[in-house]
Amino acid sequence: MIREKLEEKAERTLRETDTYRIPIAIEVLAHRLNLAIQSEALGDNVAGMLVVEGDRGAIGYNSTHALVRQRFTIAHEISHYLLHTKKNQKSQLFIDRHMTFRRDGYSSGGVDHEEVEANQFGAALLMPRSLLQQEVKKNDLDLDDEEAITFLAKRFHVSTAAMSNRLSNLGLLR
Ligand SMILES: [Zn+2]
Repeated sequence: MIREKLEEKAERTLRETDTYRIPIAIEVLAHRLNLAIQSEALGDNVAGMLVVEGDRGAIGYNSTHALVRQRFTIAHEISHYLLHTKKNQKSQLFIDRHMTFRRDGYSSGGVDHEEVEANQFGAALLMPRSLLQQEVKKNDLDLDDEEAITFLAKRFHVSTAAMSNRLSNLGLLR
């Protein structure tokens, strides 16, 4: 999906589920999409997973990870659900070891692409472009200033690394 479509779809998803305000209530969003969520001590290597059976789905995420990372994991799994599950398939499973690295176990082409896309869409859900621009404007932020990034990260309840990446991907950083 092209970048602009991803941004639009993320914003539409948030508006339709009445979660379009910061910090994004990512667990509420999951529930409104009829996804059950459960935190578990999954071991260091697994960040999260998504199981889909017919029209029902469940997300598991690692309770031992930092809260901001848990939020990113949930957003990432929601993204797989919205973008990558196929209709009319009995059961589908996504397992994510490290969000920023490749998923193991599947070697078919397109897997990496899906991971990249789930990360992008997840970021767009947690840090909607328009709300981000609004915050920057409202608070008259200078994005060259690291404190501005920290401030935004807190407002959106994400890690500073995630915020910095997002701003850079949106072309808002020099
Ligand atoms: Zn994934």
